[in-house]
Amino acid sequence: MNIVPKPLSISVLEGETLFSNSTEIVSPIDVIVKELNFLDYERGDDNKAIFQLAPTEYDYEIVINGDIRVVARTNEGLFHGAMTLKQLIFDGYFEGVATIKNCHIKDRPRFEYRSFMLDIVRHFFDKNAILKLIDILSLVKINNLHLHISDNQGYRLESEVFPELNEKANTRRSTRGDGIPVGGYLSKADVKEIVDYAGERFVNVVPEIDLPGHTLFMLVARPETGCTGEQFDLAERYGIDNRILCAGNEENYEIIDKLLGEITEMFPSKYFHIGGDEVPKTQWQKCEKCRAVVEREGFDNYEQLQGYFTNRVINILKRYDKIPIVWNEALYSDMLDDSAVCQYWSDGRGARAVREALKNGRKMFVSKNFPCYLDYPHGINPLKRAYRFEPMSCFDGVGEENILGIESPLWTEWVADEDKLHHQAFPRAIAFAETGWTRKEDKCYKDFVERLYNVLGILEAYEVGYEHPTKANPNIFKAFGQAVKFLIDMLDLGDRKAVRNALDAQKGRKK
Ligand SMILES: [Zn+2]
Repeated sequence: MNIVPKPLSISVLEGETLFSNSTEIVSPIDVIVKELNFLDYERGDDNKAIFQLAPTEYDYEIVINGDIRVVARTNEGLFHGAMTLKQLIFDGYFEGVATIKNCHIKDRPRFEYRSFMLDIVRHFFDKNAILKLIDILSLVKINNLHLHISDNQGYRLESEVFPELNEKANTRRSTRGDGIPVGGYLSKADVKEIVDYAGERFVNVVPEIDLPGHTLFMLVARPETGCTGEQFDLAERYGIDNRILCAGNEENYEIIDKLLGEITEMFPSKYFHIGGDEVPKTQWQKCEKCRAVVEREGFDNYEQLQGYFTNRVINILKRYDKIPIVWNEALYSDMLDDSAVCQYWSDGRGARAVREALKNGRKMFVSKNFPCYLDYPHGINPLKRAYRFEPMSCFDGVGEENILGIESPLWTEWVADEDKLHHQAFPRAIAFAETGWTRKEDKCYKDFVERLYNVLGILEAYEVGYEHPTKANPNIFKAFGQAVKFLIDMLDLGDRKAVRNALDAQKGRKK
C-alpha cells in the first residue's frame, strides 16, 4: 500500500471499502474532517470513518473493513492515522469515490523528533508559503518546523519591544551587487496563524535566534551591542561575518532577555534554538570588555567566552521554561549547560565534539550537512543518498539512546522563490521523514520510490512542486557540474573577508 512513511505493520484483509460523500467522519478533532475533505467526493456506500481515543500500544491503529476505525491514545495519534488514511484515499480515488483495500495497520514512530528547517532570512518566505509547507510536512508526519528568523542579512519577526529591528534590520539593499532589495517579516498575527495552523496538525514551530554569531542584524539596529559600537548596514554577502554581539557588555544580556521574552511569548514550542554556530572570535579578542570577562573568569581561550555567553542565554531561556537547542560548535567550550540539546551538522571537529558529548549523555538531533542539507544541489545530496542516510551510523553505537531525532534543514542563500524552495525540499524532506519514522530494517529505496509517487500526487493537488525522482539522482557529470557551481557560490571566493572569518571561526583562539 502506497503510504509514506512506511507503517510498522500492514495486514491486508479480504475485500475493499469505499470512502466517499456518504462516509460519515466521526472525530473528536475537527482538523481531521477538514484534512480528509481534500478531494471532491460523489455518493458511495453509507459507512463510517470513526476516530476514537482508546488504549493501544501503538501510536495509532487503523482497521478498514466496510467501516474505517482509527484508534489512538492521543489526538496526535489520531491525526497521524488520518494522514495515513488521506494517502490511501488519494491512492484509491477515481471519479469521486476512493476504493481502499481492507487492512489492519499498526504504526509508531522510530524517533520522537522529526523536523524540517526553513531559513526565512536569506530570502523571506511569507505566511502563506509557510502554511503550505505545513500541509506537506504534517502529511508525512514531520512534527517540528524549525524557523531560522535572524541573521546577518535581517530580522524576520515583528518586534514591539525593539521596533528598530523592523525599521533598520528588515531590508538589505542588494545581494552580491545585484541591486535587488530583500526584506519582509512575519507580523505577530502571522506568527499566531502559523503556530495555530501547525499546532492543529501536531507540528511544533521552533524559532531560532542564532547567538552570538550571525547577529549583525542586532548591531545594525543597535550599534552599541557590538564590540566597536560602529553603525553597520545589513550584510549584502552570505559568508561568515566577524561582527558579532559583544560578550562583555552587560546591557546585551538584558536586550537578549527582552527579545527572547517577546519571541517565547509568540511560539509555544517547548524547544527554542539559540544557534551558536560559526563564531569568529577576532573582535572579542580586541575588545576591552570581552577581554575583561576572560580575565575575570580565568578563561584560557575564547571558546570559553562563547560557552559563558551561551550559558547565560540558556539561563534566560530556563526562566521562560524552554529547552535550548544549539548547533554543534557550541560544544567546543567544554562547558555547555547540560540542558541544551545539540544539533549535529558538521564533520571534523564537530563530529569529534558530538561523539564526546554523546558519551557524556548529551541529547542530540542529527542533521549532518551531508546528506541532510536540502539547499545543497541534488548533485551533492542526491535523493538516494538522502534516503539511505542512517543517523546512528555516525556514532559507532556510542550514546545512541541520546539521539532524539533528525532534521533536514533548508538554507535559502540560493533559494529566492517558492518554486525553487519546493524543488530543493521535495522529495528529499519526505525521504528524511521516512527515516525519522520507519524502522531502519523496514526501509528500502526502491520500495520507497514506488510508494512516493502517490504522495507526490498529493503535492501536485496542493500546487507544491518537487524534483522528479528521476532527476533527483543526477549522473556523475551533471552532479559534478552542480557541485562545482554550488561550492563556488557558497565559498563566495570573491569575498576574502568571509573566507578569513570562516577559517577563524574554526579556530579556538587562545587567550
Ligand atoms: Zn566585546
